[in-house]
Amino acid sequence: MNASTTKQLRVLLLGGTADANRLAHALAGAPQIDAVLSYAGRTDNPTPPPIPWRVGGFGGVDGLTDYLRSENIDRVVDATHPFAAQMSAHAVEACRRAGVPLLALERAPWQRVAGDQWIEVDDLAAAAEALGETPRRVFLGIGRMHLKTFAAHPQHAYLVRLVDPPRAALPLPNAQVIVARGPFDRASDRAMLTEFRADCVVAKNAGGHAASAKIEAARDLALPVVMVRRPDVPTRPCVESVAEVMRWLGHDETPTERGV
Ligand code: NAP
Repeated sequence: MNASTTKQLRVLLLGGTADANRLAHALAGAPQIDAVLSYAGRTDNPTPPPIPWRVGGFGGVDGLTDYLRSENIDRVVDATHPFAAQMSAHAVEACRRAGVPLLALERAPWQRVAGDQWIEVDDLAAAAEALGETPRRVFLGIGRMHLKTFAAHPQHAYLVRLVDPPRAALPLPNAQVIVARGPFDRASDRAMLTEFRADCVVAKNAGGHAASAKIEAARDLALPVVMVRRPDVPTRPCVESVAEVMRWLGHDETPTERGV
């Protein structure tokens, strides 16, 4: 197709996940699509994508609606993290107002298998409570934003994995920090949990491959997992693979990357 003579499809990709990065690579190879990837700006050095990108909030539903109109966006793909519920709700409402079709790219939640010791809870406050009074050694694979929830439970020793080095002291008196960016692998996470002598893992049920290593490692080591269920998001069309998104955008060539 000749992109210079055919109107390109303007796509806004809401990112911040490994899936969004994979989709960005597929979009870079689709000349009939003119896509921009949007990051919230939570990490210091986001992975530079192979397509144009922007950083920062839109200013709520009104701001996103204005953006869709002023940028002549034809389609929106929400590939945010399943726990980014506010952004996803804003996308549903802004797309409704602006009359722009929306598709979510979201992996199915992880499922427990026989032998797993999962304690499923509704939010991180409940996860912190579920650790109990007795001091434990806890791996927190939950990101930086919600560590303060665990400050009310200082009796535990925490191992915290973060994308960026912390700029200030953590709100946890007894915490070790690992700075690393996923995707992670099962053997390395098993070694990390063993070295820390973890007796428990706290995780958000993200689903997909990028963050599943800690869950598989906990399974290997027969460790209990306090698993936070996903927050509710308004109903919207949803697919699980980059290939399905590309077909929705009218691009039928199957991407070759892992996970599509
Ligand atoms: P959130 O609570 O749903 O969103 C809060 C606000 O951040 C939104 O209202 C929006 O601001 C802005 N925002 C969120 N995602 C954005 C994006 N992709 N582009 C532009 N603005 C965005 O989101 P969150 O849980 O803080 O997550 C923030 C980002 O981190 C997301 O991109 C998400 O994919 C990624 N992430 C989140 C988690 C998690 O566990 N929550 C884990 C891994 C990655 P305005 O209202 O001003 O538009």
